[in-house]
Amino acid sequence: MPIDSQPICYSLIIPVFNEEAVLPVLLRRLDQLLARLQGPAEAIFVDDGSSDSSPIVLQALVKRDPRYRYIGLSRNFGHQIAITAGMDAAQGKAIVVMDADLQDPPEVVEQLIAKWEEGYDVVYARRLSRAGESRFKRATAHVFYRMLGRMTTVGIPADVGDFRLIDRKVLNVLREMPERDRFVRGMIAWLGFKQTEVAFHRLERVAGETKYPLFKMARLAVNAALGFSDAPLRLAIWCGLVVSSLALLYGGWVAVLWMSNDSHLVAGWSSTIVIVSLLCGMNMLMTGIVGLYVGRIHAEVKHRPLYVVQERLGFERELAAAIQPAMRAVYE
Ligand code: UDP
Ligand code: MG
Repeated sequence: MPIDSQPICYSLIIPVFNEEAVLPVLLRRLDQLLARLQGPAEAIFVDDGSSDSSPIVLQALVKRDPRYRYIGLSRNFGHQIAITAGMDAAQGKAIVVMDADLQDPPEVVEQLIAKWEEGYDVVYARRLSRAGESRFKRATAHVFYRMLGRMTTVGIPADVGDFRLIDRKVLNVLREMPERDRFVRGMIAWLGFKQTEVAFHRLERVAGETKYPLFKMARLAVNAALGFSDAPLRLAIWCGLVVSSLALLYGGWVAVLWMSNDSHLVAGWSSTIVIVSLLCGMNMLMTGIVGLYVGRIHAEVKHRPLYVVQERLGFERELAAAIQPAMRAVYE
């Protein structure tokens, strides 16, 4: 069978946003990687609304080399959506997401594939170190992953980006999760399956600037927290409980002072404070309760599957056993 007509084994998904400075190096390294892979592979570039020459370079490449594919989004939809667009188009049995700036070294892809061949369905690449990133970015990332770990019940691995390999069956269920504010690494963790990691040292960006300025990072962090935890919703309940308890305690103390005819008691002021803080606390508590319902609605509208089945065994046998007597009756 000619190579072109064989089913694709590996799909590499590479989101690209104004990466013209890194493209020459990226394309050379990708070429080497694709040549080394055992089995037909495709590399899908998703242009996330670049305004530089990246789309022109990539389109020209795709025209002359059948291993490459190109998807051009109509504007900048953000990294997570770009990855999703690439996943929707991927044809491979194993799908690898990697950054365009070579911070995720192509050599690690081969290690991810080796683990997949051992039978793992999700192989994520964990960052042992992060070269060339500002101390602020490293510190905020560190805090973010630890806080997220405490807030969620889904085991989202720490220090892991979107650089990972997933099996086709994981992708198929991931595509049934239509939520709009996507935190893809969390969604994959939520799905379960047989997961493992490969550790690597994250390199410096080969050229160009980061496309994740502070506001985009903050938005991703908010998406992660809201999509995978209802701790922020419960916060109002806790605040409400604390404030109203303090108000009640203070009210009790004021009552004691009043009964003992304490001269420090300013008439009118204490009762006003007690009433205002009690009402404030009750307000927060009620907001928190409404929040719990909002949380339920939020969970419903995400339309995630209720559960994900990894395998089903024995059902065919039962079916065969049920059919056989009936068939026998027909022939007798
Ligand atoms: N990216 C994207 N859309 C965006 C921002 C980034 O497609 O809105 C791509 C970018 O081209 C790169 C990857 O996402 O391939 C990761 O971005 P970057 O390297 O700038 O993030 P950092 O490594 O600094 O966190
Ligand atoms: Mg980068």
